[in-house]
Amino acid sequence: MAQILNAFNNQPHATFTFMKPTIKKNINLKNFNTFKLPCIAENFAVLSEIDELEYILKRMPHNNIFILGKGSNIVFQKETIQNVILNNILGVKIIQEDAEALILETGSGMAWDDLVNFCVLQNRGGIENLAAIPGSVGVAPIQNIGAYGVEFKNVFVKLLAYHFYDKKFIEINAAEAQLGYRDSIFKHELKNKIFICSVQIKLIKNPKKFNISYPSVQQYFEEHKHIELNLKTVADVIRTIRSAKLPSLNEYGNAGSFFKNPTICTEQFDSIKRRFPELHGYLLPNDTLKLSAAQLIDLTGAKKLLHAEVACYSKHPLVIINKGKAQGHDIVSFAKEIRKIVFDKAHINLEFEIDII
Ligand SMILES: Cc1cc2nc3c(=O)[nH]c(=O)nc-3n(C[C@H](O)[C@H](O)[C@H](O)COP(=O)(O)OP(=O)(O)OC[C@H]3O[C@@H](n4cnc5c(N)ncnc54)[C@H](O)[C@@H]3O)c2cc1C
Repeated sequence: MAQILNAFNNQPHATFTFMKPTIKKNINLKNFNTFKLPCIAENFAVLSEIDELEYILKRMPHNNIFILGKGSNIVFQKETIQNVILNNILGVKIIQEDAEALILETGSGMAWDDLVNFCVLQNRGGIENLAAIPGSVGVAPIQNIGAYGVEFKNVFVKLLAYHFYDKKFIEINAAEAQLGYRDSIFKHELKNKIFICSVQIKLIKNPKKFNISYPSVQQYFEEHKHIELNLKTVADVIRTIRSAKLPSLNEYGNAGSFFKNPTICTEQFDSIKRRFPELHGYLLPNDTLKLSAAQLIDLTGAKKLLHAEVACYSKHPLVIINKGKAQGHDIVSFAKEIRKIVFDKAHINLEFEIDII
């Protein structure tokens, strides 16, 4: 946090002495993923400075490296992974600033929620609705993280990445990144080819307007009229709503929403609605409809699927939970079974939101 405060006070960045990162052997990644799944990293390095990458790449082949952020969007199905780099590149600095807005550059290994907290405290608006997402800053553009009516793409400016194959640093701006619903170029052409080092976002100074249009957020403020509307209360309300709906990570290992919300055409929607009259569809500008994967899992009865070590969370069936002793293959086979039930009953193929490793 000290580094961040320095950045906001416009103090010069601390200078670092290059320390050779240690490559450790046979590290269990159980405490490095939110599903709490065991998986052995045969070689494991923590990267704290981008200058250390060259040193690590000389010791780990670039085409066989798994980059680990906060491990909140993955299922380790393999029992071992050969080479793992844990990203711990921290720090925030102001790149550009005028009376209304500022551009921040953030180290990709920083916890996303630390960044949200800090921006809220500094009264810089734009990411407060994305409070409590347990990932790293570097994966926000990969996933185009989103929640409560806001997506990362709303604030994204550009990022700096190291291209493993071209062996050089590249900048990728918002247009090039092709951010869509939990999607980006980093999941396609650039998958496993780059290491995202830092990310720039644009924030509004001392904002007067807040996005509380998402139904549950709007309802909360309507029911609690005494709560003043500001950045902190928006973030706090979102944290309250989330904690009522999602399991605590101390209680059950999970990776948030396991499946994406599917998009279908109006004809298909009409046909499914005949079987499931309660089904909601949210009309998108291109005349397609977005369905709630959680509602599909509920209506098709898939959420009642039984397994000794895995389940759909009772308050939110889109969240698959590890009851304690699950292995990665238990989670994956359970998720495939859920997908099959939904497909058999509603003819919709749910797509995984998370990465199976
Ligand atoms: C309780 C809970 C709630 C959640 N709520 C939300 C939500 O509301 N909205 C939402 O969008 N998501 C949500 N998520 C999902 C998750 O937090 C996000 O997808 C997050 O962005 C993942 O970040 P991470 O650092 O944990 O990624 P990881 O799981 O560590 O990695 C994901 C992928 O990115 C790759 N990767 C990691 N770092 C880099 C890098 N620096 N460069 C290149 N590739 C890299 C990894 O190799 C891996 O393939 C939730 C998860 C949980 C557990």
